[in-house]
Amino acid sequence: MSISTQTWQKILVQAISDPAELCRMLELDPDIISDCERSRQQFRMRVPRAFVSRMEKGNPNDPLLQQVLPLAIEMQTIPGFNQDPVGELSASPVPGLLHKYHGRVLLTLTGACAVNCRYCFRRHYPYDEKVPGLSQWQAALDYIAADSSITEVILSGGDPLIVKDQQLAQLITSLERIPHLKTLRIHTRLPIMIPERITKVLVDLLKQSRLKAVIVLHSNHANEIDKAVAAAITQCQDAGLIVLNQAVLLKNVNDSVDALVQLSESLFEVGVLPYYLHVLDPVAGAAHFNVDKEKAKQLIAAMSDRLPGYLVPKLVQEVAGLSAKQLL
Ligand SMILES: *Cc1c(COP(=O)(O)O)cnc(C)c1O
Ligand code: SF4
Repeated sequence: MSISTQTWQKILVQAISDPAELCRMLELDPDIISDCERSRQQFRMRVPRAFVSRMEKGNPNDPLLQQVLPLAIEMQTIPGFNQDPVGELSASPVPGLLHKYHGRVLLTLTGACAVNCRYCFRRHYPYDEKVPGLSQWQAALDYIAADSSITEVILSGGDPLIVKDQQLAQLITSLERIPHLKTLRIHTRLPIMIPERITKVLVDLLKQSRLKAVIVLHSNHANEIDKAVAAAITQCQDAGLIVLNQAVLLKNVNDSVDALVQLSESLFEVGVLPYYLHVLDPVAGAAHFNVDKEKAKQLIAAMSDRLPGYLVPKLVQEVAGLSAKQLL
C-alpha cells in the first residue's frame, strides 16, 4: 500500500461539521438550527459531503438531513431515554470485546465514524475516538482463541472501516490463525457515506481470507443509495462477499410503508438483502426519533403485504441482558 494518504481519508477530513454551513449548502433557513449549540457540543455534527449531495435543497424535512442535523430538541429530558440504553458498558470481558450471544463476539475497533447519526446509542459513550493499535487487540484475540465455541467475529464500532487497510489486514491475519473461527462480519455505514472506502486492497483482503466475509451495511433510506454507493457494493459482491443491510426505524426518516418498501427495493436492485430493522435504542437525545412498537409491527405487516418475504427485514429490539436480539 502506498504511504500517501488514501482518497477516502482525504474525503473523511473534508466532512461538514458546522450546522450553519450545512444550512447554507442546502439553502435552508438557519432558524432550524437555532439553539442547537448544546446538542452539538454533546455530540458533534459530522457528515461527509457526498451524503449531503444526496439531500434535497430547500427541504428541512429531508430524510437524510434529519439523521445528521443537531437540534435543540435533543436536550430535552425524556423519561426512559438514558445514556447506556443497551447495557453494553457491562458486557465486556476484555476491552473492546462484547460477548453477549452464543458463537459470536463483537469487537469495537474504534469509536470513530464517518458520520455522526443523531439517533446513535454511542452519542454518550466514553469512547476515545483514536483507533487502537494491534497490540491493544491482543487481549481480545487471546479471549477468542481460548473459546472454541466462538465461530464468528463481528467488527463494529463506531465504524470498523475507519481503520486503515494495513491495520485491518494485520487484524484479519491474526483472526485467521484462530482455527475455530469461520466467519468475519463487518457492520459499517462507510460504503454509504464514503463509497471510495471500498478500496481494491480492502476487497482483495476480504476475498483472499479463509474466513467467509459478510458485510452488513447500515442504510436507513433509499435516497442514501446512489450510483457510487451501488458501484462500491457491486465491487464487494463481485469478490464473493455477502452484503446485507440493517436499518433503524426513525420517525420522520423512514416510518412509512412507502419509505421502507422503497429502501428494500433499492437495496435489492443492488443485490443487497434487508437483514434487520431495529427499533430505536432509547438513548437520551434521540427521543424525537422514536416510533412506538405497535406502529413498528404494523409497518412490518404492511411491508409483508407488498414484498416477497426476503425483502422484509426482521424487526428487532436490543434488550440489555438477553442472549439474542428480541424479535418483535
Ligand atoms: C447484534 C449483536 C451481535 C450479532 O447478532 P446477530 O443476531 O447475529 O446479528 C453480536 N454481538 C452483539 C454484542 C450484538 O449486539
Ligand atoms: S455510523 Fe453507526 S455507529 Fe456511527 S454514528 Fe451512525 S449509527 Fe452510530
